[in-house]
Amino acid sequence: MTLIRRKFLTTAAISGGVLSAPSLVHAQGKGTFNWKMTSAYPKGSPFYFDGPGSATDLAKRIKEMSDGRLNIQVFGAGELIPAFEGFDAVRAGTVEMNHANSYFWTGKTFAAQYFTAVPFGMNFQGINGWLYDGGGIDLWNEVYAPFGMVAMPCGNTGVQMTGWFKKEIKTVADLKGLKMRIPGLAGKVYANLGVDVKVLPGGEIFPALERGVIDAAEFVGPYQDRRLGLHKAAKFYYTTGWHESATVSELLINKAAWQTLPKDLQAIVQNAAAACNVISEGWCQKANADAMEDLIKNQKVIAKPLPDSVIKALRAETDKVLAEAVAKDPMTKKVHDSYMAFMAKYQRWADVSEGAYHSTVRG
Ligand code: CA
Repeated sequence: MTLIRRKFLTTAAISGGVLSAPSLVHAQGKGTFNWKMTSAYPKGSPFYFDGPGSATDLAKRIKEMSDGRLNIQVFGAGELIPAFEGFDAVRAGTVEMNHANSYFWTGKTFAAQYFTAVPFGMNFQGINGWLYDGGGIDLWNEVYAPFGMVAMPCGNTGVQMTGWFKKEIKTVADLKGLKMRIPGLAGKVYANLGVDVKVLPGGEIFPALERGVIDAAEFVGPYQDRRLGLHKAAKFYYTTGWHESATVSELLINKAAWQTLPKDLQAIVQNAAAACNVISEGWCQKANADAMEDLIKNQKVIAKPLPDSVIKALRAETDKVLAEAVAKDPMTKKVHDSYMAFMAKYQRWADVSEGAYHSTVRG
C-alpha cells in the first residue's frame, strides 16, 4: 500500500468516508425508477398541475434532487384515467402515484375528509402542525393501510372563499331552495339548511351559473374563480370560506412501490412534497391578492363575509354532520378526536398569536 493510499484511508476513516462509501455504491446499485403519477386535475390547471408547487413541479424537483434516478411522468385528468380514479389506480398499482385531494375518497373511507379540509377546521399553520407534528400523517397512513397505500401533504390552497351568489344572503332562510354547486361535506351541511346541492366539475360551473341552472357556486378562491369567469355570472362574492379553511393537496403512493425505493429516494420524495406544500401556498397568497384587487376594483364584485347568523347555523349543522359520521365509523372517530383535540389546543395558542396579530396588532 502506498503512503498516499494509506493516508487516504486514515483521513477517510476519521471523516466517515469509509463508512459512507459502501452506502453510496449500494444506492447507485438500485438503479433508476420510472414512475407514473396521475392527477385529478386537467393538464394546464394552475396550482394543481402547472406552476410553483404543482404536480409537475413536484416531479421536476424529485428528478433534479435524485439526479434522474426517480423519473415521474405526470398525467392530467383524463389522459391515462378519469379524474377521480386515482385512488383505485394507485391501489391496483396501475400507477405508483396520484396527485389530488383526499376528500375525493370519502366514499372509500370517510376519515379521508380530515386530511383535506373539515368545515370550521384549522388554517394552513394549524393543519401543518397537526399533520407533521401532531400525528396527522401517521393517522393518514393508518387510514390507507388497508388499501396498501401511503400519503403525504404536497400542496395547500390556504383558506378558500365561500363562493358566488346571484342574490344577497341576509338570513338562513335565503338559503332555502337555492341551487348551489358545492361538493363534499359542506354540501351535506348546506343541504340540511335547505340548499339544493349540485356537484359539477370545475369546467361546468360557469355555464351553469350564467344560464341560471344554479344560483350559487363555490370553487376555490379569487385567482381560480376569476379564471373560470364566475364574477361574470354572479356579483355577490362571499369571502372567508367556512367550509375549506386550508385545503391540503395529497400525494398518494402505492405502498409496495414505495417500499422498493431506497431510503434516500424516499427522503427526496418527502422533502420535495414538503417543499411543494409551502411553495404552492405561497403562490396562492400572491395570485389571490392580485386577483381579489382586480375583482373589487375593476370587476365591481361585492365581496363580504356571510352574516353571523348564517355562519352560526352552518356551524351547528357541521357539528351534527360530523357527529353522525363519527358514530358510524371507528376510524373516523379516531381521526376526528385527534384533529379536534389538536385544534382546540392550537386555537387557544392561535388566539394569542396569529389571531391577535391580525385583529389587534395589525388592526
Ligand atoms: Ca373548494
